[in-house]
Amino acid sequence: MSRSPQQAALSPSPFTVGDLSRLGVNHLAIIAGGKGSRLAPLVGDVPKVLIPIGGKPVLQHQLELAAAVGISEVTIFAGYLGDRIEAFVGDGSRFGLRARTLVENEPMGSAGALLRSLDILPGQFFVLYGDVMLAVDLRRMAKCHVDRGADFTALVHPNDHPQDSDLLEVDADEWVTAIHAYPHPPDKFFGNLVNAALYVVRRDALRPCAAAIGKRDFVKDVMAELIAKGGRVLAYRSSEYVKDMGTPGRLKKVEADWQAGKLTLESSSRSGPAIFLDRDGTLIVENGYLRTANELQLLPGVAPALRSLRQAGYRLVVLTNQPVIARGEASEADVAATHRRLEWELGKEGAYLDGIYLCPHHPDGGFPGERSELKIACQCRKPATGLFERACRDLQIEARGSWMIGDQTRDIEMARRAGLRSILVQTGVGGRDAKFQAAPDYIADDLAAAAGVILRHEKMLAL
Ligand SMILES: [Zn+2]
Repeated sequence: MSRSPQQAALSPSPFTVGDLSRLGVNHLAIIAGGKGSRLAPLVGDVPKVLIPIGGKPVLQHQLELAAAVGISEVTIFAGYLGDRIEAFVGDGSRFGLRARTLVENEPMGSAGALLRSLDILPGQFFVLYGDVMLAVDLRRMAKCHVDRGADFTALVHPNDHPQDSDLLEVDADEWVTAIHAYPHPPDKFFGNLVNAALYVVRRDALRPCAAAIGKRDFVKDVMAELIAKGGRVLAYRSSEYVKDMGTPGRLKKVEADWQAGKLTLESSSRSGPAIFLDRDGTLIVENGYLRTANELQLLPGVAPALRSLRQAGYRLVVLTNQPVIARGEASEADVAATHRRLEWELGKEGAYLDGIYLCPHHPDGGFPGERSELKIACQCRKPATGLFERACRDLQIEARGSWMIGDQTRDIEMARRAGLRSILVQTGVGGRDAKFQAAPDYIADDLAAAAGVILRHEKMLAL
């Protein structure tokens, strides 16, 4: 059975719920999409959204999360076997919200059917793909979208396969400046900001995109068009749980994560320990002052070491002094390009960072071409703890159980001030700068050896 979206319009909502209503974002559009062809051998002939995880269809997980955070209305754009989806959801009341299912029989891409139905959607709403399992606090995301005055906000995170993901490029204020759709050309470095298929959108910003008819894609058409026309497309970074289960391997992984209890809002936003990492001489070859991305070279064994630390449950955060910016020897854009390459090179080996925090300042004047506004005694240049504190706030990190790894005495002194255990690595400067007296807890040959120290330490604690 197929019917036009207009016929299915909801009557005005009789109730309001929680923060999302105050923010004016309490509607969720779910793009149920097609048949999970790649999953058919595993699950049979089922629309993707009805594939069970932990014995419950993905769609039910999505609706329950939506209801829990205060979404009151849901529109499901269904294609393949849409009648079955409609029968499952009904009017949504058994999930604690009001739902309608719009069945579209011709393939419309991820955005086509929604763009055709803008008039029956409210002023702002969430968009979620039907093959995504998530534990995201939608209230926080909506607040960020509204506070920043965005037209379109996309949840982004790093993953361990950026080379075959759609990647976003952002400016210093997290506005998206470019989209790099997979497949990527060789010899370019696109960082590791992966679009996770969860958006908050302002309806009227999408109207120009609705003019074209037929198949439309949210990334390649809608986002790209918005950016080209100067629209405000915002990247919302989050380390909360969001994974698609579109291949047998990923479906298995998501099922395991569900069994391990990782798919609750509570566990998804839980704080935990981190490994803080210096950059030059610890992760990459110390090369005087690195000015361009082309000079970057990972030290041997770095990516596997980071993978093993993440496997052990640590967040991974780089804290780096970049006085080259204050001295006018490199711009913020140069350093950002270097960091995109760093993330790209790590991604090639399945490793990724949760954040890179840099201090652009330098206290002493007298360099030709220096930028006087950055020539200050700041709170963030290591051994000061400003970068560490900012990372803890942003990434829900607990100092307890965290470590600092670096090649300079200022890294070890920062660890002492922050109350972190520290490891001095013998790569790079190897502590020979002798500027600060603080003693490291351990000395290791390189990052791989330092990771070994931490993992052995963990094992001892576990005994
Ligand atoms: Zn600073």
